[in-house]
Amino acid sequence: MDDSSAPKLLFSSLALDPLILRAIEETGYTEPTPIQAQAIPHVIAGRDLMAMAQTGTGKTAAFTLPMLQRLLPHASTSASPARHPIRALVLAPTRELAIQVHESVVTYSKHVPLRTTVVYGGTDIKAQKPALMNGVEILVATPGRLLDHVESRNLQLNQVQILILDEADRMLDMGFMPDLKRILALLPKQRQTLLFSATFSDDIKKLAQEFLVDPITVETARRNAAGENIKQSVCMVDHHDKFHALVELIRSRGVKQVLIFTRTKLTAAHVSKQLERSGIPADAIHGDKTQQERIKALDAFKSGAVMALVATDVAARGLDIDQLPLVINYELPTHAEDYVHRIGRTGRAGASGEAISLVDSEEERRLVEIEKLLNRKFPREAAVVPSGYQKPFKAAPVRSHKSAPVDDWFSKPYEPSVSQKSKEEQAVASVAVNRKPQQQVAALFRVRNESAE
Ligand code: AMP
Repeated sequence: MDDSSAPKLLFSSLALDPLILRAIEETGYTEPTPIQAQAIPHVIAGRDLMAMAQTGTGKTAAFTLPMLQRLLPHASTSASPARHPIRALVLAPTRELAIQVHESVVTYSKHVPLRTTVVYGGTDIKAQKPALMNGVEILVATPGRLLDHVESRNLQLNQVQILILDEADRMLDMGFMPDLKRILALLPKQRQTLLFSATFSDDIKKLAQEFLVDPITVETARRNAAGENIKQSVCMVDHHDKFHALVELIRSRGVKQVLIFTRTKLTAAHVSKQLERSGIPADAIHGDKTQQERIKALDAFKSGAVMALVATDVAARGLDIDQLPLVINYELPTHAEDYVHRIGRTGRAGASGEAISLVDSEEERRLVEIEKLLNRKFPREAAVVPSGYQKPFKAAPVRSHKSAPVDDWFSKPYEPSVSQKSKEEQAVASVAVNRKPQQQVAALFRVRNESAE
């Protein structure tokens, strides 16, 4: 993954402890990625950091490795919880990202006696308590669940020395600002803060101004934004032909794995169901799936049991799937930045990949926004729709019965599964009981956000 003209650097030349270097060596990595090479020395030196980096650039190790290095003097084999206060807090917007970050922390810390755990919403809070009560130096958390634990007095944040905000732009997009402010108010003022974001919007800059001190800024996201190693194309298609064009694309590419993005949970669930019916093993991940269902779907996809994974933007955030060859945008995202996040799932760690967008006439405005952001224009190709299904490009909005099998599932109003619904209702009710009135709006937002996508 060396796209820069910078001289080659080895991990061993960074000021990392041999125990950390051993863990890196065991992963098989020898050279730091550009973001790692830039960030690690500054973080070890104790500087605040504002890093523009997306998933796929090696950003997790860019903050985890120097964080471990800085915490090493506090590593302790003592069994006493008092010897293991939370010293580093990593906040991530989604459960999936939190789980993945935690896995990386476990990998890189395996030879040092530093404890770590992860807490996120959508699962039993009680099950997360013992690990916290035993004491952990490194806590990875989604903001909402972290505050739930604070309220339950399961943890204290007054000894945090390092705060890491991962995918900060997404946290703001998801409405986590009130939660972030509450968490930041609980942390010592004297600390190191690292902010990772795929974009530097004005809101992100404001956040950095407020909570970071004289930060070093590093930017290495351009390779993904430009998608140099990702072949990108746009296929124009009539809205009604989209699904058939999708099946044709998947079949014609002959790939073993494809990640498909939709804008809504409804479409994700539907596309996945229809793919299954078309003989393409598929599953969906979105906010109305339980955590167990999402993990199961992801594992099945990673193992190859499921060929097509259909995901909404937030549910897919941070997914790390090795060697993913193809990403298809079944619908273009509402925010142009999400296009960059989506295509970043392929072409990872320097590998090549392909990203294809199926675009109907209603979505052209979104396509133009994406082109503006990337500063490039995509040729509009016509999607291949198998004969028998093809309809004129400007089809009437009402679909004829003959054109394609219509699933009456389409016309039903969307309802979350009963278990999910009752869980959300319970969560909302308990929040309303437990929180002061002025905090209820933020709390309600949070419950919705953590389960929304
Ligand atoms: P991330 O951006 O943290 O999600 O990482 C993207 C992928 O790159 C993950 O699969 C990492 O395991 C992998 N990776 C991280 N650091 C390196 C490295 N120095 N060399 C090669 N691959 C890496």
